[in-house]
Amino acid sequence: MVEIGKYKIQHDIDGCIGCGACAAISNNWKMVDIKGEEKAKEVKIEFDDSELENNKEAAESCPVEVIHIIEKNTGKKIV
Ligand code: SF4
Repeated sequence: MVEIGKYKIQHDIDGCIGCGACAAISNNWKMVDIKGEEKAKEVKIEFDDSELENNKEAAESCPVEVIHIIEKNTGKKIV
């Protein structure tokens, strides 16, 4: 199996209120229109250490806490 990244994103898109905070902080998030509602969508679902800080900042900026980062090999929730 090819290792794509050490961490993965979990995003509860139903809970996303479309505030845009994550996309303002990180290039790994963009705003999209889903059935007339603005929602955030991750560009890459998996990433390595070099992108961890930026993705953490984006996750921590979410006012409704619907972005989580999981360390894949331990299952540990970083955010
Ligand atoms: S910060 Fe949270 S609520 Fe705001 S757009 Fe991003 S995922 Fe959605």
